[in-house]
Amino acid sequence: MSVTSWFLASFIIRHTLIDKNLIIIMHVLDPLFEQNRIWSKKTQAENPEFFGELAKLQEPEYLWIGCSDSRVPANQIMGLQPGEVFVHRNIANVVVHSDLNCLSVVQYAVQVLRVKHILVVGHYGCGGVRAALNDLRVGLVDNWLRHIHDVKQKHQAIMDATAPEDRLDRLCELNVIEQVLNLAQSTVIYDAWARGQEVSVHGLIYGLQDGIVRNLNISIHSLNAICPAYNQALSSYSTQA
Ligand SMILES: [Zn+2]
Repeated sequence: MSVTSWFLASFIIRHTLIDKNLIIIMHVLDPLFEQNRIWSKKTQAENPEFFGELAKLQEPEYLWIGCSDSRVPANQIMGLQPGEVFVHRNIANVVVHSDLNCLSVVQYAVQVLRVKHILVVGHYGCGGVRAALNDLRVGLVDNWLRHIHDVKQKHQAIMDATAPEDRLDRLCELNVIEQVLNLAQSTVIYDAWARGQEVSVHGLIYGLQDGIVRNLNISIHSLNAICPAYNQALSSYSTQA
């Protein structure tokens, strides 16, 4: 085989392989498109006006701030339709005062959409909380999970008084309570209350084992309610070993 023929043959083989890979990659999402078409058809069959009404505007009553965990989808858990809940998710449902992404979502939800209730929703068995609890090194996300470490340190007495097998659950709950506090103390919520806008912040936690959302009994609807609500929520936890 001449050099030219060999080069031509290897070029054809190489590009044929690339094309095969491209074809495989192009079709890897096909099941998702198929499922989407089925869902769209079913939804329209049940309610022909559904998408027409939804496309006009969104007026959700709730903002959900939850974990990115794929097992904790906001709409399905609460039985809410598209358009009924505005959603922000990140690893371990953290609300940080320097996180412009989260704060922008809250500001838009409160000021523009005028949601009435903000739900901070943790979940038991959270991998992010577990990593912080056990001081696991995962990578870049360790810096984000530093906020959970702070929660653990802040409530070390409660953690020490909790049986080892219950500490993950306890830290998941304490994390929600702390993030509710962070949110209630944000400028966005302060300003909303100063304007006289009715908006409440609630702390909830979801059980992966039973699909049930539990109320952590921290709901804050005004500046004056922050401390009493926070202290009340923490009062249910023992600090005695
Ligand atoms: Zn999680």
